[in-house]
Amino acid sequence: MLVDPIALRTPSVHPILTVLATVMGKGRERRRIKQGIYEMVHFSMDIDLWGSNNFEQSRPEIPGVESEYGVCDSPEQFEELLGPLIQKDPRYFVVSLTHIIKKYEPAEGGWRWRKWGPYIGKGNPQEEYLYDEKGFEGGVWVYHIYELKPREFIEEKGVGLMGPKVTTLKEYMAALKAQNTGGVKDAVVVCVVCGTPQSCEDLIAAGAGKDFDEVEPSWGFSCIGRFLGSGPYRKGCKKKNPAQIGCDWTLGGLFRIHTLEVIGPDGKHHSRFEPATPEVAQAHFKGKEERLASLRKLVEELNAPVKPKGRANEDKEDKR
Ligand SMILES: [Zn+2]
Repeated sequence: MLVDPIALRTPSVHPILTVLATVMGKGRERRRIKQGIYEMVHFSMDIDLWGSNNFEQSRPEIPGVESEYGVCDSPEQFEELLGPLIQKDPRYFVVSLTHIIKKYEPAEGGWRWRKWGPYIGKGNPQEEYLYDEKGFEGGVWVYHIYELKPREFIEEKGVGLMGPKVTTLKEYMAALKAQNTGGVKDAVVVCVVCGTPQSCEDLIAAGAGKDFDEVEPSWGFSCIGRFLGSGPYRKGCKKKNPAQIGCDWTLGGLFRIHTLEVIGPDGKHHSRFEPATPEVAQAHFKGKEERLASLRKLVEELNAPVKPKGRANEDKEDKR
């Protein structure tokens, strides 16, 4: 489905892209056409999204879509031809469309057909360069489909745009068991916002409760960062806890975003964090002892009653 990413809500600050956009854009600016579809004035939406190239998420394979990038005649045409296929896919996508305006094309060394993927429009390209084509007066549009991870498109207020998956308690438990981490206390879920893997053992070490029974209601529901004063998730933000573990998200808040609902024995839907993949869970389990020790140390520091005098200024800065 098509979603609006967080990153595009702010102007691009990337120096090279800013120059490129000024040159290519001819005074135009990035524009949201509709949810998940943006007109860009350069070809590198991945840099706007992630601050760098992201090969993996720039190459999604979508059933029925020949290529994740290509050329068409207009945004409307793109939407008509590929929109339904993208919407049908349960993953999350954003589309970049860049207008190549024929009248701005230079006589030499301008835009040419090759390397931009398949042409899905109605025209009949005959030349190598757009400049030399007859017709195509409206120019062409280069499209590129990018895949987003859930935490990359949650709006700042935390309003999610996606519908959750629904599973049974039995299936949920089976997914946790398949992680093979040695027991329910070591089963691993992943925070829907910050992506931090976490087990009940972690929550106990983070001070969320003294034993399994106490932390179990929080686990898979509130991120570990909530117990460590981590603050809200923001890419690259400075968090209150120096280790930057987790975020303050809880599924019980006013804004309901979650990717998974588990049908409980009561027949009701309960929102939960998703189980980690077995690979992630096992890697997490392997680093357990070391992590628990550092969590306990962090909690001790956070709970230390009085800090040495000399650090007063530092603390003030931290609170901003
Ligand atoms: Zn989190």
